Amino acid sequence: MMNRLYDIGANLTDSMFSGKYHGKQVHEADIEDVIERAKDQGVEKMLVTGSNLDESRTAIELAEAHKNLLYATVGVHPCHALDIENSLDPTKYLAELESLASEGKNLGTVKAFGEIGLDYDRLHYAPADIQRKYFELQLDIAERLNLPLFLHSRACASDFEAILRPRLPRLPRRGVVHSFTGTLDEMKVLLALGFSIGINGCSLKTQDNLRVASAVPLDRIMLETDAPWCEIRPSHASSKILNNQPQTISLPKSAKKEKFTKGLMVKGRCEPCAVIQVAIVVAALKGIPVQELCTAAWDNTIAMFGS
Ligand SMILES: [Zn+2]
Repeated sequence: MMNRLYDIGANLTDSMFSGKYHGKQVHEADIEDVIERAKDQGVEKMLVTGSNLDESRTAIELAEAHKNLLYATVGVHPCHALDIENSLDPTKYLAELESLASEGKNLGTVKAFGEIGLDYDRLHYAPADIQRKYFELQLDIAERLNLPLFLHSRACASDFEAILRPRLPRLPRRGVVHSFTGTLDEMKVLLALGFSIGINGCSLKTQDNLRVASAVPLDRIMLETDAPWCEIRPSHASSKILNNQPQTISLPKSAKKEKFTKGLMVKGRCEPCAVIQVAIVVAALKGIPVQELCTAAWDNTIAMFGS
């Protein structure tokens, strides 16, 4: 029996899935192949990440074109905070974001508000005070929308908590902190606040990461790839575990992007079909069958975002 998988972090609006890398067209668009490969591995649903106003619109268009398979988030990523700040009219930008999310929610394509949060590892994209300003202003929107949150938190745990905590009574649907790479204590705080934890290849890089990932409670875990990013690489601690598992998963072979071959994956570009690898590693860490892990993650995800 195939595992039912829900990739909650699929950046399918990224230009790499249109064959463009660093602004240069390297190969033909292959997003439909990417989607088919995911379905072949049991991925029944994917949440396409919106990271600014334009990409949120594109995410919704993708969801509209793949009903009951793709869904969208709407929001501005902390690394895109300057997109709002430097727009002609930040108030209007936020108002458009809110109406986009609200319309998408009513149509059933938008399942979460995000990706919003803080990223103090990448202050070169947006200074911390600007990130905080638009995290707060977007949380104001989230409170009115009553959508679950799709959150990004990197090297900012205390500010992140300080901003969210007083708002919790007005955010009853909570949300998921995706691509979690924090400490065990930081995870415990998030769990106590009522949030779920998204695990992908970046959450499984080091031995410390593995210890934290193994401790995510089964009723709070969600699975993701963050494709095209965060693949499990041979140098990662997770890779050994993956290679030691008895079950054979046959992801298609990959070719370098310059040698793009239809039907093959692209080397170094993560795809939603790889979410099964994340599931296998986490199940091994927890010492439970892969299917039990997948079922738990599926149930958690449907409970939060709806079916
Ligand atoms: Zn993120």
